[in-house]
Amino acid sequence: MEVGLTSTIPVEIILAAGHTPVDLNNIFVVSPQAAQLVRDAEAAGYPRNACSWVKGIYSTILQHDINTVVVVTQGDCSQMQAMIETLADHDIRFIPFAYPYDRDRAQVKEQMRRLIEALDSDWDAAVAVQERLRPLRAKIARLDEMTWREGTVTGYENHLYQVSCSDFTGDVERFEAEVDGLLQEAFGRTPRSYRARVGFVGVPPIYCNLYQCLEELGLHVAFNEIQRQFTMAPALECDLLTQYQCYTYPYDIFARLEDIATETANRKLEGIIHYVQSFCFRQIYDHILREALDCPVLALEGDRPGGLTGRDKLRLEAFAETLEARR
Ligand code: SF4
Repeated sequence: MEVGLTSTIPVEIILAAGHTPVDLNNIFVVSPQAAQLVRDAEAAGYPRNACSWVKGIYSTILQHDINTVVVVTQGDCSQMQAMIETLADHDIRFIPFAYPYDRDRAQVKEQMRRLIEALDSDWDAAVAVQERLRPLRAKIARLDEMTWREGTVTGYENHLYQVSCSDFTGDVERFEAEVDGLLQEAFGRTPRSYRARVGFVGVPPIYCNLYQCLEELGLHVAFNEIQRQFTMAPALECDLLTQYQCYTYPYDIFARLEDIATETANRKLEGIIHYVQSFCFRQIYDHILREALDCPVLALEGDRPGGLTGRDKLRLEAFAETLEARR
C-alpha cells in the first residue's frame, strides 16, 4: 500500500510495515502539471494567499488516489492541518504525527509508537530498517562531502538526492543503485571553478530551475540545509529515537542556526540564499538568520511552481557579483 507523507517522518516505520512511502511534496513539485495542481485547489475553494505547497499536495492526494496519508500536524505548519480537514468528505485515512516543540524524548517516542500502532508496524522491525538504511544514508553523506569538499557533485544533484531521502523515491534498492551510479560517475569528474560558494537554507524551493540558474551564474551550492536534514546523516550513528530528535527542521530555529553556522564555517560558504515560501510563517525566520550569520544573506521568495522570474534572476546575478567582489 502507498502511504503518503506531507513532510519527513520516521520512514523506517512505514517501510517496516511493508508499505511504500510517497513524499507528496516530491511528486507534486516534479509533476509537469504542478502549476495546474495549484490552480485546481484554488478552483476547489483554496484562497490565493495559502501556500502553494499545501494546495499542490491537496490536489496530488486526489489525483493519485492516495488513501492513507501521514500528516505532520506539529512541526511543519498549521496549513497542512487545515488541508487535511478540507478532505474530510473523501475516503482518506489521515494519521497525525506531531513533533513536540521542545523535542521532548518521551513525546517523540510516543508519536513514533502511535505511528507504529496505526500502521500495524513494529519497533524492532523499524530498527532493523534503520540498520538497513544506514549504509545508504552514509553514501548520501559521502555524496554531500563530494559536493562541498571536492566539488565533483553539483548543488542540484546534492539537492535532488538528499531531498529524496524522505521516501527514497518509494524503492530503496532502486534509489541506492542510482546513488551508487552517481558516486561512481562523480569520482571520475574534474571539479570546475566557481565565482563563489553558497549555502541554500530554508524549505526546498518550489522553482524548477533554481539550481540550473545558480550554476549558470557561477555559484556553487555547497550546502543544502533542510535537504541534508532529510537524510538524517547528521545523526548517522544514533539510535532510531535520537535520530528523529536530532533532526532540526520540525523543532525551534536555534538548532537549525547552530547547524547552519557550523556548516557555513566548515564548508567555507561565502554567502547564504535563504529561500522563503510565500504565505509561510517560516519567512519570519529571515530576521533571526540575518542577525545570527556572519556572511551575506539573500532572501529569495517563491510562490508558484515554475521558473524563476526575471526579477529573481537579476537579484541572484547581483548577489553573485557582490560575493565575487568580496573575494
Ligand atoms: S512552505 Fe511553509 S506554509 Fe508551505 S507547507 Fe511548508 S511549512 Fe507549510
